[in-house]
Formats: sequence, C-alpha cells, structure tokens
Amino acid sequence: ALYRAKADGRNTFHFFEQGMDSRLRARRALDLDLRNAMAAGEFELYYQPVITARSSTVSGFEALMRWHHRERGMVSPAEFIPMAEEIGLIVPLGEWALLQACREAATWPAGLTIAVNLSPVQFKSRNLVPAVINALTSSGLAASRLELEITESVLLQESEVNLATLHQLRELGVHISMDDFGTGYSSLGYLRQFPFDKIKIDQSFIKELAENPQDAAIVRAVTGLGISLGMTITAEGVETQFQFDRLRLEGCTEVQGYLFSPPRPASALGPFLTGRQMT
Ligand code: C2E
Ligand code: CA
Ligand code: CA
Ligand code: CA
Repeated sequence: ALYRAKADGRNTFHFFEQGMDSRLRARRALDLDLRNAMAAGEFELYYQPVITARSSTVSGFEALMRWHHRERGMVSPAEFIPMAEEIGLIVPLGEWALLQACREAATWPAGLTIAVNLSPVQFKSRNLVPAVINALTSSGLAASRLELEITESVLLQESEVNLATLHQLRELGVHISMDDFGTGYSSLGYLRQFPFDKIKIDQSFIKELAENPQDAAIVRAVTGLGISLGMTITAEGVETQFQFDRLRLEGCTEVQGYLFSPPRPASALGPFLTGRQMT
C-alpha cells in the first residue's frame, strides 16, 4: 500500500509539473506577444457611457482598454494589464491610452467628460504628470473634462510621494476618482488623506442590491458619506432597472453599466453623444 501511495504521489506530482509547464509556456508566449502588441497596433480603447442618475443623460465615458490578439482574439484587460505592469509596458501603454482618450474626447460635445484608468505602477512612474500635461496640450482637451481613476492601492505605499502627485494633478485642473471603492483595506482612511472628486462604488456591492440588505445599507452609507464630503458618487455594474431605481433613490449621482451600454468602440458612440435620455 505504501509503495502504491508513493507511486501515485509521484505520478500526481509529475502530472502537476507538466500542467505548470504548459501554463508557464503559454504565459511566456503571451508575454512575448504583449511586448510586440503596441508596435503592431493591437490595442484599442472602448468607451462606456456614464449616466447622470437624475436626468438619465450621458455625462461622459470611461475608457477601457482592449487587446485584439492575432490568434487568441480579445484578451481581457484583467489578464494583460497585470502582465503589462510586470514587464514595464504599462507606462508607455498607459501614456498611449491617456493621449488617445483625450484626443477622442476632444471630438465630443464640450460638456462630456472622459475617465481614464491609471495603474498604480504608472502612477508611481516619474513621468505621469508630464504625460498628463502632454495629453491635454496635444489634444486640446480642457483639463476639467479629464478624470483619472485610481484604486486605493495607490495610497497604500509611499503615500507622501503619491499624495504629492495627486495634488500636482489636481492643480492641473483634472479630476481624481477613487475606483473600486470598498474593496481595499482602508477605503475610509484614504478619504481623509486626499479629497477625491468622485467615488466609484465597486460593482460587487451593486450586484445583489435587490437580494442583500447589507449591500443596500453599505450603498446608502457610502452615498451619504460621499455626498456630505462634496464628492460625486458613481455606481458601477448597474445591470437592472431595479438597481438603477434603488441607486437613484439613495442619491447616487451617476450610474454606469450594461443596463445603459457595454463599453463600445469610438465609432459606435454616436447615439450617446446626442444628449438624449437613456431610459
Ligand atoms: P474597472 O476600471 O473597475 O472597469 C469596470 C469593468 O466592469 C470593465 O471591465 C467594464 O467593462 C465592466 N463592466 C461595465 N459595466 C458592467 C456591468 O454592468 N456588469 C459587469 N459585470 N461588468 C461591467 P473591463 O473592461 O474588462 O476592465 C477590467 C479592468 O481592467 C478595469 O476595471 C480596470 O481595472 C482595468 N483596465 C481596463 N482598461 C484599463 C486601462 O486603460 N488602464 C488600466 N491601468 N487599467 C485598465
Ligand atoms: Ca475604472
Ligand atoms: Ca471599478
Ligand atoms: Ca475593478
């Protein structure tokens, strides 16, 4: 029996090792592709409408990156952004996104805003502030129309330096949003450190809004808190009319989600640029 167990153990180990190997190989191949993807022009920005809750009209868009891989098709940013951070590609890639998004937004009616996600790695790079200035000047977009979305992890380390960066950005006239609010370790602590313009309530709190009274209570509390601190409150991942009605009732300023529109390519934004009501 002992011998058998050992043999099984070895077989299992061997099998496991092979699995790791092929996964590693696949990862390494994707890694190589990622390094060439920028030069090959395989990245594209999609834009998801953000809706003013009270009026049901579009207030702006969030830029979300897409990678069209030659063989694999669309690769999710949840997969390639962490890889791009690891290999140092996120800085040039993020700068490209910033410039591209500002150029696109400059063609929209002047009331509409554009939100761009910033990776913590990009945020810490010395070149961020010059990159933002460059994107604004070369696109001609008014700074007040640009929103930069950062997650709480940005304030987790080296908070002195990062706080200084936030203030520098604010001085340019751009707006700063805290993304994925409620998923980090010290969401409230960060609101004390820096006066964000906007809080984006993470979609995990919206998902079960109808069934889960805890989530409803959290959304109500965060909204009340944010509003009294003078911040805009955006709820993400709104998929149902029920969720929208509830969020409006609780006083959320903005909503975003599949109920209104998925992220779309720039060429498909026409109907959302007209100022009409979305529901
Ligand atoms: P995020 O910034 O929290 O973006 C929201 C995600 O939710 C997007 O996923 C969006 O497509 C998705 N979403 C929107 N409405 C709904 C809905 O009603 N239901 C559900 N289930 N999902 C919805 P996406 O586009 O796959 O992006 C995933 C994440 O990748 C983003 O999360 C962001 O953290 C990162 N990311 C995307 N683009 C960029 C970028 O240009 N730069 C950086 N640094 N990160 C990016
Ligand atoms: Ca975001
Ligand atoms: Ca988010
Ligand atoms: Ca997220």
